[in-house]
Amino acid sequence: MQAEIIAVGSELLTPERVDTNSLWLTRQLNDLGVEVTQKSILGDNRDRLASAIRSAIDRSPIVILTGGLGPTEDDVTREATAQALLRRLLYSEDLMETLSARFARLGRKMSENNRRQAFLIEGARILPNPNGTAAGQWIDLPGRIVILLPGPPRELKPMFSDHCQPMLSEVIPQRSLATLVFRVAGMPESELDQLIAPIYTPYSNPETTILAKEGDIQIHLRATAETAAEAHAIASEVGGKIQEALGKRIYSSDGSPLEAALGALLKARGETLAVAESCTGGLLGGRVTSVAGSSEWFLGGFQVYGKAMKTRLLGLDEKLVEDNGVVSEAVACAMADSARDRTGATYALSVTGEAGPESASPGIEPGTVWIGMASAAGVSAKMFRFGGDRERVRSFAVQTALNLLRLSL
Ligand code: AMP
Ligand code: MG
Repeated sequence: MQAEIIAVGSELLTPERVDTNSLWLTRQLNDLGVEVTQKSILGDNRDRLASAIRSAIDRSPIVILTGGLGPTEDDVTREATAQALLRRLLYSEDLMETLSARFARLGRKMSENNRRQAFLIEGARILPNPNGTAAGQWIDLPGRIVILLPGPPRELKPMFSDHCQPMLSEVIPQRSLATLVFRVAGMPESELDQLIAPIYTPYSNPETTILAKEGDIQIHLRATAETAAEAHAIASEVGGKIQEALGKRIYSSDGSPLEAALGALLKARGETLAVAESCTGGLLGGRVTSVAGSSEWFLGGFQVYGKAMKTRLLGLDEKLVEDNGVVSEAVACAMADSARDRTGATYALSVTGEAGPESASPGIEPGTVWIGMASAAGVSAKMFRFGGDRERVRSFAVQTALNLLRLSL
């Protein structure tokens, strides 16, 4: 079964706003076994929108519109859909009652233009909206379904999950879906694809998608079959081969991020972590503490951005810093060593580098980062050269530090 999505709103055609609804809806539709074949974004223009809806209905059995159901004149999705379907817009007592009750409950006076939200396309079913004033609408046409959903994600999501999802699963032929997600760190996407493309390309089921971002690669395998067990078997056959090819470069097989995988390893071993950060200015500690329950294995860290803080807060020898420069193996080692020492953690990671775009250290290229690690076994540091802008260099530094420790465990 195929669907298409039309996101409505002139703000979505500006550089300020992104259409996130269609991404979320695509995930939900895929989970129902529905493929999204086209997405469009249209401004708040009634004739243009009506024409887009007409062509969408010609092409696709399911057409979902989001946005443009507000009370103001610029919101025209109801009118445009009625125009496209050659149906009337009818005043609904039911909708008006719900609206009045909502305003009474909130102790607010209903404005005149809210009356527009009490109009229902002839023959439409109401999709209740407990989180806002814009009701959704579901219209059955011969062999076609048109769904109107409100724009605000906090209204759209529950409306889809509570009403559309069950209504759609009644009309969609049931296929079970199994998804496997492998996450990989420490290798470029091109290298990974060279390794695993020969494994997955012969298969159209499962469908394989590779998503890469700043040193983190996700491999998604989606299999469909008549039963859940069959779908799982299909996904696992290819998944097993991928796991074999990538080995311990895979850090998680349940979708969890690198910091969570590292935390689980540390926790299982009863070990703890501390960090000392220069060029990442707290990003590493931030990533680590995004994991709920990280206090069980993360002790804390030192944000020693300036030279003086490295000596004052971490107690680094001034001469060592002067002689070697802040972006050096010696300083990375000393930072990790001191962080471990001062916190009593079993492991400490340190980061010191030049994130760019300019370098403050003579002779050190922007993108150069030293990552240090201290443990009971000793202290060491490794140098990396990350490409790209400041944000990318810092993300890569954090990702690489987390992965270094994971691999050493
Ligand atoms: P509307 O239903 O057109 O009045 O939209 C109300 C608000 O919902 C807009 O101001 C946006 O903030 C949000 N919104 C509308 N469409 C989308 C979309 N496709 N993705 C994310 N947010 C949206
Ligand atoms: Mg709008």
